[in-house]
This record gives sequence, C-alpha cells and structure tokens, in this order.
Amino acid sequence: MRLVTVSARGQTRVGVEAGEWIIDLNRGGEALGAPARRRIPLPKSMNEFLAGGEDAMAAAREVAGGLRGRLGDSREAARLQRDGVLWAAGEVRRLPPVPAPPKILCVGRNYAEHAREGGSEPPELPIFFGRFPHSLLAPGEPYVLPKVSPQVDFEGELVAVIGMGGREIPEARALEHVAGYTIFNDISIRDFQRRTSQWMIGKNFDRSGPLGPALVTRDEVPDPQALTLTVDVSGERMQEASTSIMIFPVAHLIAYISEALTLEPGDLIATGTPSGVGFARKPPRWLRAGDVVRVSISRLGVLETPIAAA
Ligand code: MN
Repeated sequence: MRLVTVSARGQTRVGVEAGEWIIDLNRGGEALGAPARRRIPLPKSMNEFLAGGEDAMAAAREVAGGLRGRLGDSREAARLQRDGVLWAAGEVRRLPPVPAPPKILCVGRNYAEHAREGGSEPPELPIFFGRFPHSLLAPGEPYVLPKVSPQVDFEGELVAVIGMGGREIPEARALEHVAGYTIFNDISIRDFQRRTSQWMIGKNFDRSGPLGPALVTRDEVPDPQALTLTVDVSGERMQEASTSIMIFPVAHLIAYISEALTLEPGDLIATGTPSGVGFARKPPRWLRAGDVVRVSISRLGVLETPIAAA
C-alpha cells in the first residue's frame, strides 16, 4: 500500500492511493457497508494509524481492497467521492505522509564516497543529528530559498518510518519495526551547518525537508538495502547510488538507536545521502530559484521539489 496524508476540504486525512484516486481510510471502513460489528475503525491521522500496528494495517488493506473493486463503476465512484470516501488526486493537497513525527533522526556521512567528498574518512560509528517536524515540507510544494544564505544544497535519502516501537531492538528483528519507507530531500544550508561543530541549525531551516510522496508499506520493499536512489537537479543527474553501499544499514541503525532511546510509531530515520551533492562539485552547484529537484527511489516513486525565490 501507498499511504498518504492529505489536506482535504480543510481537514487532515490519512488515505491510500488507488490509481488516480485516494481512498479515505477513516470513512472507507464505514462505506464498506459491513454489519456494525464488522465495521473497521481507522484513525484520521498517520501517527494514530501507525500506532494501531498490524491490526490497523490489516484493516486498511481490507478497506482499500473492498473499495478498489467499486472504482470501475463511475456512478459508484462519484457517490463515494461526494461522501468524502474517495478523493480525486487533484482536489486534495498532499502533506508529508507523516506530518508530525515524534522524532526525526538523521544520519550523517552514511555513504563512504559522500564522507570523502566532504573531506572526512568514513565514520566508524553512525553520526546522528536531529530535525524537528517544523522543518518538513510537503511533496511537490516549493522550497522557498532563505534570504540569509546562498549555499542551499540537496541530499536525496531513503527514510524508514517506524511502525512498532521499542527499546533494545535486536538487529535481526529490526525491520519488523518498520511500517514502510519514503523519500527525503535533506535540504541543507551549508554555511549555517558548518559555522559550528553541531549541524543542527543548518539542517532545520523552516520547511527545508521535503518528504513523500507516499509511505510505501514494508511488504512492497522486501530489502531496503537493494534500492536505487537518484537525484536530478533541473534535469541533470547529480546523485546515483544503490542503498546497498550504506555504511550502516537500516536494521543496524534501528538496533543502535534503540540501545539509547525508545522508538515510537511515526519516528523517521533518514539514512544519509550518497556522493554527488552540490557543495562538493567544482564549481559548487547551489540550488537557485527555478530549479526543480527530483529524488527518485526504486519501488517508492519520485519526490519533486521546485525551488522558489526568497
Ligand atoms: Mn543528510
């Protein structure tokens, strides 16, 4: 399933993609017309949905499967759309699939060539920094350049979204704690990032972290270390790598983090970017107004971000 969060008629809703349509999961359970005892209550927010674990996931599959079969009948589809069970892609605005993650844990220098292009040796331990939810940006929305810096850079990344929480999660079972995966562009304001030893400010400008377009559930991504990631800026290929060359794979990151802290449903782990970012190019390739950044990951889709003037 491709799970999404959308803003529809002023409300934030959680849904699942069905071709050109988005099925509203909360209303979809009602619309199935099952006897009351079999009605499937599904929440309206992604965090609550993910907290529902495998039961919620199974219910969502039942709702999506039950309604998909009705979409071929245009009168039925129109009725479902009128009732707010079904949204046409054009009548909603997508939000980050997880708009308010409890934690956003980002990994720095998780690809050896990217460490080297920045003048560092590949690290022996994962390097983490934090982002806050205010720094997320909806898929397709423009990133507005900041007035205070000309050094705006792109970083295409795979994100693991935590489903089942936990502490001291063994590496061998870590992927069972992943609800699914999505795409991230860790837009970085390099001069602010490097002014001090802590990168936090340069990684947390308002709305500087495009996320999406959908949370693709784990069953559709059998191996997160076998995906191809590419980044194009205004049509020019900048980054291309397999996630197989991550220094610390997703399962290791989950095990390592959860030695220290409790992971919760909706937490995001951004797994770092491969080589080819703008600052390391000669001359540097900073993002400018009019650019379009496309981050693509196999099985997950494309995350597109236009760059707008301050
Ligand atoms: Mn990054």
